[in-house]
Amino acid sequence: MTDSYGPGEFEGVPTDGAADLAGVPDAFQRLWTPHRLVYIQHGQQPDEHACPFCRAPELSDEQSLIVARGEHAYVLLNLYPYNSGHLLVCPYRHVATYDEATPEEVAEIGELTQVAMRTVKQVSRCDGFNIGMNQGRIAGAGIAEHLHQHIVPRWALDANFFPIIAGTKALPRLLGEVREEIAEAWPR
Ligand SMILES: [Zn+2]
Repeated sequence: MTDSYGPGEFEGVPTDGAADLAGVPDAFQRLWTPHRLVYIQHGQQPDEHACPFCRAPELSDEQSLIVARGEHAYVLLNLYPYNSGHLLVCPYRHVATYDEATPEEVAEIGELTQVAMRTVKQVSRCDGFNIGMNQGRIAGAGIAEHLHQHIVPRWALDANFFPIIAGTKALPRLLGEVREEIAEAWPR
């Protein structure tokens, strides 16, 4: 947060200051979020620089795990993959839901999704994909403020929904390595 109030305080009112603290994300969502009061009382959205999908394109492809950049949208590896090669397609613009995207953004998100599927199929020989968007926190969006389409490659022998239940996932390859492989195979 960039305002003048200290962490855990807003106009003398204590908040949990969660946006200022480091932590390990878990599978649980909490509806009790008094730090949100800061945004509501300010009458504005959270600072866009706090949004990882706004920040990513400002960094190098290697730093941000970007595999391809389009005109209106870009593709990056998910930092918290369900499977090796789990990609996200995001518009550059900070919009929350699909109905807020412009026709140009919708078209390019669709095109990048197709190219991502072909490229991942080629490099990983996967058997299928889960593709979709969680719209809103209640629907499971981890970062609900910035639209992103998931592309999750699936293999016949992968662990299905067990990782979601068990909360653990074995990933055989490093993200940097996977990024390089997909970026190199991406048609330019
Ligand atoms: Zn954003």
